[in-house]
Amino acid sequence: MKMKQFAVIGLGRFGSSLAKELVNQDLEVLGIDRDEETVEEMSDVLTHAIVADSTEEETLRSIGIRNFDCAIVAIGNDIQASIMTAILLKDLGVKKVVAKALTELHGKVLERLGVDRIIYPERDMGIRVAHQLANPNLLDYIELSKEYTIAELSVPQKLNGVSLQKLDPRAKYGCSVVAINKSSGIIIAPAAADVLNERDVMVIIGTNKQIESFEEELA
Ligand code: ADP
Repeated sequence: MKMKQFAVIGLGRFGSSLAKELVNQDLEVLGIDRDEETVEEMSDVLTHAIVADSTEEETLRSIGIRNFDCAIVAIGNDIQASIMTAILLKDLGVKKVVAKALTELHGKVLERLGVDRIIYPERDMGIRVAHQLANPNLLDYIELSKEYTIAELSVPQKLNGVSLQKLDPRAKYGCSVVAINKSSGIIIAPAAADVLNERDVMVIIGTNKQIESFEEELA
């Protein structure tokens, strides 16, 4: 299978971190930035890195941007450049365009332009960290919908040696334990007799309310 090709436009804090991680995942990444020094810093790390202004249609054409599987507009502060780049990428027929938005309004504009995925790194990270600070046992979570969430919770000392049957989260809180990650390995769809140990990680699914009440019990 042909390796997927990504173009990351804007190698600031967000773009450079994203581009590096894509390379770590063995993907091909072209980094584009109008700042020469920034490009130089990244040239050893990325598959290719070039100095270019992404608001110039001809430049994007000559790079062959439409052949990339995904282009990420990681320009934030210069909203005009972000919007102009996004519209050019869509017009040039890039299959998937992802863009970072600084504000809700910036995001709305990108949405109207047909950007396939809009990311709000600061807002989303703020929300995520707030959840984790409010619930010290919460390691991570995925919102499946407005109502349902999958959460990773570390098992506190007070549940050391407690079986799922005894804890009975489904009857008490309405949420289910779908996996337990132990140092010895992961138990998928654990049985009632499975026992929790301190520092295991439980993966639970339920409504936000159910998970909240379960977390309160663990705190
Ligand atoms: P962050 O907050 O993630 O650091 P910034 O918006 O500060 O994001 O940085 C975005 C990067 O995008 C900068 O390195 C800047 O040089 C680059 N950039 C801005 N406009 C353009 C453009 N038109 N073409 C290419 N690169 C650009």
